[in-house]
Amino acid sequence: MKAVLLPGDGTVEVVERPIPVPSMNQVLIKVRSSAICASDLSLYSGNAVVGGNLAGSGKIIPGHEAAGDVVEIGEGVRSVAVGDRVAVHLSIGCMHCEFCRAGYIEQCLQWQCVGFDVDGGDAEYIVVPEAVCLQLPPELSYEAGSVMVDNFGTQYHTQKRLGVSGTDVVTVVGLGPMGAAAVLVAKARGADVIAVDLVPHRLELARTLGADHVVDVSDGTALEQILALTDGRGTEVAIDCSGNAAGENLALDAAARLGRAAFVGESSSATINPSEQFLRKELTVIGGWVFPIYEYDEMVRFILRHGITPEVTVSHRFTLDEAPTAFRMVQERRADKVMFVFDEDTEKESTQ
Ligand SMILES: [Zn+2]
Ligand SMILES: [Zn+2]
Repeated sequence: MKAVLLPGDGTVEVVERPIPVPSMNQVLIKVRSSAICASDLSLYSGNAVVGGNLAGSGKIIPGHEAAGDVVEIGEGVRSVAVGDRVAVHLSIGCMHCEFCRAGYIEQCLQWQCVGFDVDGGDAEYIVVPEAVCLQLPPELSYEAGSVMVDNFGTQYHTQKRLGVSGTDVVTVVGLGPMGAAAVLVAKARGADVIAVDLVPHRLELARTLGADHVVDVSDGTALEQILALTDGRGTEVAIDCSGNAAGENLALDAAARLGRAAFVGESSSATINPSEQFLRKELTVIGGWVFPIYEYDEMVRFILRHGITPEVTVSHRFTLDEAPTAFRMVQERRADKVMFVFDEDTEKESTQ
């Protein structure tokens, strides 16, 4: 089968690998969609932000936002059948600890990440435990599944924890794929949205996704603009999806007194002023990352009830052969959300 590898030096290899065989409690999925996440750029440039030693080895197939068709099941598999359309939750856990048992597999101390620690979805086939297979109803596309297991699911969970509702104005800072998903979720939860970025086409996308106001940060007056839109109060909720220090500071500053804020953009350091920015404002500040697997069915109902198509956040589509171009375009910020798409007529036999 065809598969992508990221040696970590800014290059991309498209290689031939044997089709993996599902062992006990595993399933083989023919991949139909697999998205590039901003976090994959850390593999591309050789400083993996997630995972153990193997993650940086260049030998693991990337891709933690995959969906496809189950084509083979291993011994003992009960909940998934050949022919099922599934998305893959990125978390592989021990399934016995308190976090796994609560559905928070991503908090497991033995956690392994699909596409970082074990082979991921940027390939024609992927093997995963049946426990991480999420059934896609016929109304949802494979691409919707790919977006749901990362950006959309993260926002769904984070905004549920923040209690976002129709009484809130939500500032979304950073309108890449995560921020775009934040706009979709906040609007469906009934909030007004102020969408913040400096890239014109991202601001335009936010408008088409339903943002009530867009704020261009490029002239340095973003906070003043947000305050002007809210009678000087700030917004009840502010979510940073940018992962940069300026964006995180803007989110804390934009949040109203007694408000709520979330950091969702991956970030390794930032200087903040806790006393000014959240201590005396009595803010509730949370981190948001992935979603507990038990929340998937509820998220599906939410999406169907509100007629959301999460895949509207996809900006570019490529084949695996075009992976070098795809990763380069994401790295150079010429593409926001890239989806690998696959030829549905390719038979398993012909790719061996
Ligand atoms: Zn991701
Ligand atoms: Zn566990």
